[in-house]
Amino acid sequence: MKIKFQLPDPRKKIQSYRRFIQWGFLLLTLWIGFRFLLFVHQAGGSGAVTVTRPPGVEAFLPISALISLKYWALTGIFNTIHPASLVLLLIILAIGLFLKKGFCSWICPIGLFSEYLAKIHVWIFERPRNLPRFIDYPLRSLKYLLLGFFAYAIFFEMDTASLAAFINTPYNRVADVKMLLFFSHASALTLKVLAALVLLSVLVRFFWCRYLCPYGALLGILSWLSPLKIHRNEKSCIDCNKCNKVCPANIKVATSKTVWSDECHACLQCVDACPVKDTLHLSVTTRKGRMPRWMYAAAIVLLFLLGTTLARALGVWHNSISTQEYRHHIQNINDPVYNHFRGQQPPNTQNN
Ligand code: SF4
Ligand code: SF4
Repeated sequence: MKIKFQLPDPRKKIQSYRRFIQWGFLLLTLWIGFRFLLFVHQAGGSGAVTVTRPPGVEAFLPISALISLKYWALTGIFNTIHPASLVLLLIILAIGLFLKKGFCSWICPIGLFSEYLAKIHVWIFERPRNLPRFIDYPLRSLKYLLLGFFAYAIFFEMDTASLAAFINTPYNRVADVKMLLFFSHASALTLKVLAALVLLSVLVRFFWCRYLCPYGALLGILSWLSPLKIHRNEKSCIDCNKCNKVCPANIKVATSKTVWSDECHACLQCVDACPVKDTLHLSVTTRKGRMPRWMYAAAIVLLFLLGTTLARALGVWHNSISTQEYRHHIQNINDPVYNHFRGQQPPNTQNN
């Protein structure tokens, strides 16, 4: 029997491609994590270090990135301690502004994990169950409160001197190593919190993304400001409600002329589900500037690739901390000087 293999047409359905891209970024993240683990292991020993540190690991340092952003804005200096964290933050902000909250549903591994947990939710409850609005709305504000807390502490409380002091602290210089140790040597409390978040995400779909993720809050604001929106042609809509049923963010697409929600993460499942051609579409205005689904997928990947390639070309991708210095930090990582922001220099070492 001849097996016919056919890829889905990206002009009609984009979900398989979205999944492919999500898995691609997940595998990239795992590869980066594995390489960094090897690097830390080798640098912490006394033998040769044969693995180079992957700069992409700085994607997990959002606070350091926000501090670097303000420092860059005030001084014009792109700090060299964790430059990739700032590059990645700028790429994510650009995605938010131009391509809505697509980072969450196309790139973020936690977004992918949450989607699988949401499938378990539907399997258990047989259909999506959403929290009542009087609980949902206050909970949604939590992520904005968290974002507000960080934004206030950094943008209102820290002057140039304290920003520079933080950037050069031993704590910040090894923030990547400490983040790795936080997960690879997770305490019982950390494991309990992670397990609780997984459980909550099964009970309530996208619990972390919808209620707690400060990155999601930041992207929600930018996405709301983004000129790109999902529009519905009221004339051709047949009120089948298929768009409502597939929307993971519980947005009432079928009764919206334009989707303005900060919760829309541009997964395009509603556009894929709509049975009437050109009734739901991504565009800048209701009529003009329509963006095909395949173009959106290509744009999100290209923006990421172009941003990181440009950063390499400009020399702001790799950090300035030598392997020697990393070795010193890792071998002394239990020294209290690395515990939190104290504005101190590492023991027996000079800033490189
Ligand atoms: S409105 Fe459409 S694109 Fe936005 S989250 Fe819902 S299904 Fe995804
Ligand atoms: S899926 Fe399309 S046709 Fe059906 S309600 Fe939504 S916009 Fe209208």
